[in-house]
Amino acid sequence: MRISKALTIAGSDSGGGAGIQADLKTFQELEVYGMSAITAVTAQNTLGVQGIFPLTVEAVIDQIKSVGADLHPNAVKTGMLFNSEIIEAVAHAIKKEKMAKVVVDPVMIAKGGSPLLLEESVDTLKKKLIPIAFCITPNIPEAEKLVGFKIVSLEDRKRAAKTIFDLGAKSVVIKGGHDDGNEVTDLLFDGNTYHLFSSPRIDTKHTHGTGCTFAAAVTAELAKGKSILEAVETAKSFIHAAIEDSLGIGAGHGPTNHMA
Ligand code: PLP
Repeated sequence: MRISKALTIAGSDSGGGAGIQADLKTFQELEVYGMSAITAVTAQNTLGVQGIFPLTVEAVIDQIKSVGADLHPNAVKTGMLFNSEIIEAVAHAIKKEKMAKVVVDPVMIAKGGSPLLLEESVDTLKKKLIPIAFCITPNIPEAEKLVGFKIVSLEDRKRAAKTIFDLGAKSVVIKGGHDDGNEVTDLLFDGNTYHLFSSPRIDTKHTHGTGCTFAAAVTAELAKGKSILEAVETAKSFIHAAIEDSLGIGAGHGPTNHMA
């Protein structure tokens, strides 16, 4: 039996709904062996982020090296990277270990407003990480930060996807969760075609970790050898079910249900 393996390089969420924890749960649900390189530890629950403790660059690099030297992931996901030093180290280590199929979730701000990437590091993300991305999965506010213009219409969204593609990513998914309307429409640009994926909007406050979970599902499917179109299709239905069946635990924005 061929075992598909995926590595997540991201922050830890003590509340278990986002970050490394969401990624590993998603990999497991999609029958992919999960590995992790932790970039930062957060003290966090459904009410918000109470503390952020970035790891040293050396600690981050060594984890990626150890995995690369022995376990050979079929796909890699990056999440919370927090600062420019960590972004540069991660990009360098991924290249050095010749890791392919890199899915970049350009995590910037937690739903409660805590910065998970320093403002001054957005440029480093654009210069160092996007050029090695097989796929990048911004939400609308993240895409706006990357391209420097407001995204209102579908045409704006297509232009933003093309602009991000031109920074070097092989494919771009701009997620529609932050849009309004009864439908959530995600846009995939693969360099040739714009694909739209729509689902009915679910009215809930329990959406903590949706971005991480979606990108982790894309990564898991790519690790199995699926095309980007198939991977996004599966990720879309996975996240829809996870939100629909969200657990409602905690007093704030609860996690989605990775077991849905
Ligand atoms: N905490 C960590 C460690 C994350 O990686 C992420 C991912 O985006 C978040 C929190 C954000 O979670 P939320 O979906 O609540 O914005």
